Amino acid sequence: MSFSSLGLSDALMRAVSDTGYTTPTPIQQQAIPAVLNGGDLLAGAQTGTGKTAGFTLPLLHRLSTDAIGSKLTSNNSPRAIRALILTPTRELAAQVEESVRTYGKYTKLNSAVIFGGVGINPQIKQLKHGVDILVATPGRLLDHMEQGTVDLSKIEILVLDEADRMLDMGFIRDIRKVLAKLPPKRQNLLFSATFSDEIKALADGLLNNPAMIEVARRNATSDVIAQKIHPVDRDKKHPMLAHLIKSNNWSQVLVFTRTKHGANKLVEQLEKDGIGAMAIHGNKSQSARTKALSEFKDNKLQVLVATDIAARGIDIDQLPHVVNYDLPNVPEDYVHRIGRTGRAGATGEAVSLVCVDEHDMLKDIEKLIKQTLPRDVIPGFEPDPTARPQPIQLRSGGPGHRNGGNRGGGAGGGGGARKPGSGNGGGNKPRSAGGNGGGAPRGNGGGNAPRAAAQHRSGGRGR
Ligand code: AMP
Repeated sequence: MSFSSLGLSDALMRAVSDTGYTTPTPIQQQAIPAVLNGGDLLAGAQTGTGKTAGFTLPLLHRLSTDAIGSKLTSNNSPRAIRALILTPTRELAAQVEESVRTYGKYTKLNSAVIFGGVGINPQIKQLKHGVDILVATPGRLLDHMEQGTVDLSKIEILVLDEADRMLDMGFIRDIRKVLAKLPPKRQNLLFSATFSDEIKALADGLLNNPAMIEVARRNATSDVIAQKIHPVDRDKKHPMLAHLIKSNNWSQVLVFTRTKHGANKLVEQLEKDGIGAMAIHGNKSQSARTKALSEFKDNKLQVLVATDIAARGIDIDQLPHVVNYDLPNVPEDYVHRIGRTGRAGATGEAVSLVCVDEHDMLKDIEKLIKQTLPRDVIPGFEPDPTARPQPIQLRSGGPGHRNGGNRGGGAGGGGGARKPGSGNGGGNKPRSAGGNGGGAPRGNGGGNAPRAAAQHRSGGRGR
């Protein structure tokens, strides 16, 4: 199937063609016609499936070509917000809005993104100026609603992206307050990777006779990726990584750390070893990220250190080496991370440096991928058998609260520690809470693995 058979406007087709994508992903093949139809949609899809373009493209098509699109030309009065996309984190909000810009660049539609942790005044100014498509995190959107600086009365399309994570992060009340202010006649699209009872209840109340689509979860790891665990002491990870890179002559190594601080620190250490490295994460400017990424792609930069969220946009084929410097606290992220190597039939290698603090995480990952990963102890780096686990700091700052306040806390907020041996995802909630319900759309069980409290992964409420 090609994009041209989906019925998207020329302006959108040109933008797609600029990105270089030739074939719609499975979620795009299903979601695009469903959204173009004008009905509600319940979609089971996780990050990495191409879901963003799956809703962005048809949304842009509808707004730019429908009869209502003629509103665009009405001069003088500022544009009314016609589509609202809610996301759980500011990183995702920024990323989605970037997609709206990318795909909408040949349309006359404009967009804005609003999230917490940054000044509200520039956002107020932008909203006043007129916006067609608004991407927002729920908390900051509510702030604008309370101040009367956003008008949602003309919304035609609502998208809840990563709805499960929004609920995990305690946004349900905020979402309901937002829903109450939207005009009743509108198109609703709900995207979620998992389907708990809470999500089903939200969908039941929100969606009107929705089309239901689901794409396979990507929990199976590819056979062409050689996966290995290197047991190591907590404080020997950096020398071990330097040793691996140097002794194997690795180039183009993508390294994952759990926190932004960890990423920065590792870059400094590698630089001291004479290994060229740069970090990409939420605190880096877009230009810094772009620079790091393009140097890495061009093989000018040996090591790129990334956090999970920042790594989402990385789309490099045949990446030879992925290193989990820290294991991810959400087991599914392991699959996402290593999926960046061994693409398109090429072989790749994914190694994980695992210390005693991470044994529970490793167990969760092996359960998810239904494999026991081979352990390879590197001579000179044998771990101390008497070492005791310590709690893992899941973010750089102080202790976090799941639902408490944290207004203005953006990517750096939320968090806390994961206690070794607790079996919980850290934070204040059992791991099973949130995403572990059965029954995806079409009654498919979904096979959802337990999720850690989501704010740890994304680093806080997007307020
Ligand atoms: P998402 O699931 O929306 O976060 O997208 C995951 C990644 O897939 C992004 O890096 C997109 O740029 C990329 N992508 C989206 N659509 C396509 C496509 N049709 N072909 C190849 N890559 C795509």
